[in-house]
Amino acid sequence: MTNRDTSRTGTVNNDHVRALDRAGVFHSWSAQGALQPMVFKGGEGCRLWDYDGRDYLDFSSQLVNTNIGHQHPRVIEAIKAQADELATIAPAHANLARGRAARKILDLAPAGFSKVFFTNAGADANENAIRMARAVTGREKILSAYRSYHGGTGSAIAATGDFRRVPNEFSRGHVRFFNPFLYRSEFWAGNEEEECQRALHHLRRVIECEGPASIAGLLLETIPGTAGVLVPPRGYLKGVRALADEFGIVLILDEVMAGFGRTGKWLALEHFGVVPDLITFAKGVNSGYVPAGGVIINERIASHFDEEMFYGGLTYSGHPLAMAAICATLEVMEQEDVVGNAASIGESVLTPGLERLRDKHDIIGEVRGLGVFHAIELVESRQSRAPLPAAEVARLKQAMIDRGLLPFVVANRIHVVPPCIISPSEARQGLEIIDEALAG
Ligand code: PLP
Repeated sequence: MTNRDTSRTGTVNNDHVRALDRAGVFHSWSAQGALQPMVFKGGEGCRLWDYDGRDYLDFSSQLVNTNIGHQHPRVIEAIKAQADELATIAPAHANLARGRAARKILDLAPAGFSKVFFTNAGADANENAIRMARAVTGREKILSAYRSYHGGTGSAIAATGDFRRVPNEFSRGHVRFFNPFLYRSEFWAGNEEEECQRALHHLRRVIECEGPASIAGLLLETIPGTAGVLVPPRGYLKGVRALADEFGIVLILDEVMAGFGRTGKWLALEHFGVVPDLITFAKGVNSGYVPAGGVIINERIASHFDEEMFYGGLTYSGHPLAMAAICATLEVMEQEDVVGNAASIGESVLTPGLERLRDKHDIIGEVRGLGVFHAIELVESRQSRAPLPAAEVARLKQAMIDRGLLPFVVANRIHVVPPCIISPSEARQGLEIIDEALAG
């Protein structure tokens, strides 16, 4: 039998694992037939290896979540210790790891936040933030951006802007608007200031035309990630905050990808001096060692639910293994200055290195980003800015993999998103491989 699990008889290799996968595993966001997934056996820090002796530098952080890299021993140890003590407990009970995780997260949030609702991941964090905004305002509509990704579940995918939303629009009351992105401006803007002003004017008009009294929440990624690492122009998020205040709308910032070190700050919102009403998180909070996400809730909204019932819940809300992983991850990040490392790798290696690549390769239309959160925009020509065709992007991706780099490729972009712990020499090595692939 070709697909028999022979892992205990010592005959495991990549082909075996892939065959077992293809025989039974149904993959996310894919037509299943042609899939040939890469196989990984183990990892450490920024490196991963397979069963056949190949080794890769992880420039993807998987789905931009392993901010502390693979197999950090202290986090693994904390998960084991929690498993020994109590592997699971219902969300209604108080648990030390859960209370400590909430405290640590609140200590990193801006002043004025007082509670954390734990979820299983990022999508359900957004689901529940939307639910809170609707409950607290008594309004229904949720405004979100076309250039966004908020998760694969009911309201989160309906709030998402990218093409994956379209077959999934079964949640009601969603309205979308264009967020700023100067390189592909929807507003015919010639500079960042124009882009910012026009995007804010457009948002005001959308709010006015939708009827402000019907709008519960405005949901935005602080820095849209999957859509292309779109760092908003100066003043945009403050302008959004002002519009939310003017019209009594709950502002939700989605920090699922940008949060917990990725941008060189604990939360990406710190770059912009903006404080939302709700913050959603997942991924980097414990580097995905055990699935977890959540909503950080400000005092005003938290106190609403002191009297009013919250109509939401999850069997695994605040799962102790995930909570132990959060506590250990945040301690490690603090003690090893992981956030400072992300900032300095961005400033000293990635930003200048990517600018050099842009100057060298005509195929690069733009590079942008901060910390360990960057994107390379690949184009047919700099003049037309037309996205590089998919077949060409696929060829480049394979060229990077062949050279031992695990890249994160989305549409016509290479997202340069290594773990926050990456060393300068590893970061340079990754850029050299990208350079060779582009030259090849
Ligand atoms: N929000 C953002 C900004 C994301 O990038 C993602 C996932 O990539 C999500 C939400 C959804 O998170 P999850 O896949 O953990 O449900």
